[in-house]
Amino acid sequence: MAKVIELNKSITDSNDRDAQKLREELKQKGVFLINLMSSPGSGKTTLLSSTIEDLKDKVNIAVLEADIDSDVDAVKIEKLGAKSVQVHTDGMCHMDAGMTKRGLEGMDLTGIKLAFLENVGNLICPAEFDTGAHKNVMILSVPEGDDKPLKYPLMFSMSDVLLITKTDAKPYFDFDIEACKERVLRLNPKIKIFPVSAETKEGMDAWEAWLLENLF
Ligand code: MG
Ligand code: ZN
Repeated sequence: MAKVIELNKSITDSNDRDAQKLREELKQKGVFLINLMSSPGSGKTTLLSSTIEDLKDKVNIAVLEADIDSDVDAVKIEKLGAKSVQVHTDGMCHMDAGMTKRGLEGMDLTGIKLAFLENVGNLICPAEFDTGAHKNVMILSVPEGDDKPLKYPLMFSMSDVLLITKTDAKPYFDFDIEACKERVLRLNPKIKIFPVSAETKEGMDAWEAWLLENLF
């Protein structure tokens, strides 16, 4: 059983201000927070699990698992040796800064250098709410198709990193990585793009090097 925290929507007049405050507080504590976003079923937990496996001997990692229900992802993450808390979002389809703060308060962050918020699976409104994370990372998996940047431009525009995942599935899907990169860079010329496979570990080293470089 994982620790589960029930959250309600934050009642605040300024999510942006709360987010900025949380970002500064975490930086002072030396905790680098990533907001990880994707559509449901695109493999956020799998990507995280593989990342934790590779980095857990180098850095202490914590994961805040946001979900409408269940604690399966938090249990999976804890088995890998990272600290994890599950938050239930009471039907909310995104996390805001106040919810992220309350979730993190349910965890002992002593010694933690890298924290992930696994946001609710949804490519629309998580893009509209600053969570207080230092970097926004999104996942697009090969089976979802290379036309997603055209359908969800805001998500691609506000992310610092795009992980194109499940590249091992490329032979079975019509996904043009170069065309996808071009579409995304047109929306967001500063975004970093890492094609990865958690399965074969192809490309994981570049993503993990980026994470380690960005720690405080
Ligand atoms: Mg998950
Ligand atoms: Zn929402």
